[in-house]
Amino acid sequence: METPILYIVIPCYNEQEVLPVTSGMFLAKLRQLEGEGAISEKSRVLFVNDGSKDRTWEVIQGLCEQDEHFQGVCLSRNRGHQNALLAGLMTARRHADVTISIDCDGQDDINAMDEMLREYAAGCDVVYGVRSKRDTDTWFKRTTAQGFYKVMSALGADTVYNHADYRLMSRRALDGLAQFGEVNLFLRGLVPLVGYRSSSVYYERAERLAGESHYPLKKMLAFAFDGITSLSIKPIRIITALGFFISIVSVIGILWVLITHLVGFTVSGWSSMLCAIFFMGGVQLLCLGVIGEYVGKIYNETKRRPRFIIRETTLEGDEGAVDHE
Ligand code: UDP
Ligand code: MG
Repeated sequence: METPILYIVIPCYNEQEVLPVTSGMFLAKLRQLEGEGAISEKSRVLFVNDGSKDRTWEVIQGLCEQDEHFQGVCLSRNRGHQNALLAGLMTARRHADVTISIDCDGQDDINAMDEMLREYAAGCDVVYGVRSKRDTDTWFKRTTAQGFYKVMSALGADTVYNHADYRLMSRRALDGLAQFGEVNLFLRGLVPLVGYRSSSVYYERAERLAGESHYPLKKMLAFAFDGITSLSIKPIRIITALGFFISIVSVIGILWVLITHLVGFTVSGWSSMLCAIFFMGGVQLLCLGVIGEYVGKIYNETKRRPRFIIRETTLEGDEGAVDHE
């Protein structure tokens, strides 16, 4: 096999503090892999500026001027981590044989790339980077994240446990991913659906080297909920089951009411009535909410708005590239 062209794809949002620190690490890794003959010298580090409000794009442009190994893509505005990553991957697909996506904060161990590339050479199209430990995360982040994977798998959404978006994908796998036109992007759930041979590489996750996490609890919950409703219709099934169950219980209840009425035991049933009303009201609102969530998803999907728009890029031939080609 010829030495493959590797593109390391890195979404960046307001990362001016951390980029100068980590960009050197990525470059060193690329050089080392090149030196070992594992990848071609046409390999690149591709930064995606996700509409940052600080000087991130200027930092990226500076890096590109310093070394031809650095390339950058600038989105027209902030579209969120998943869309930014997709923009990077879809851009890299036109230039690379294989991509590795990673966050720019240095939390994911870049040394796992060596093994990822070995797995790729051995014939895998997708290699997941999986955290072996989460010691550096707070107890809270750890527990909520693990709860999230458990709920996801219980609801039938196939995701790799403790894997975020640090993964290797071959061009063939990216071509597969490109065929998924959904606007509600949840890459962790989509990549397993692309199929092909896959494997995992384990690494320890470190602390962010600088700057702050963009995923506070509120965003994490929204992301988890989004993931579930993008990948699974089980919540709707659960509602149907709940509806059946409550209907049966109410039939029994009605029978009981009729019998007590006929027997003549009509007690002043004020409290039981109110409880039933409150309970039913709550359940109905909840169910409506969940169904509404799916209707909202359908609404967004039918509009088929582009998931990203590229404003500027340092790569040749990619100016004005758009989504859904
Ligand atoms: N990110 C992005 N767009 C956003 C938010 C985040 O491209 O709207 C990038 C960010 O620059 C980082 C990665 O996504 O490279 C993961 O974000 P972060 O490290 O804040 O998340 P955490 O690791 O805490 O889950
Ligand atoms: Mg991070």
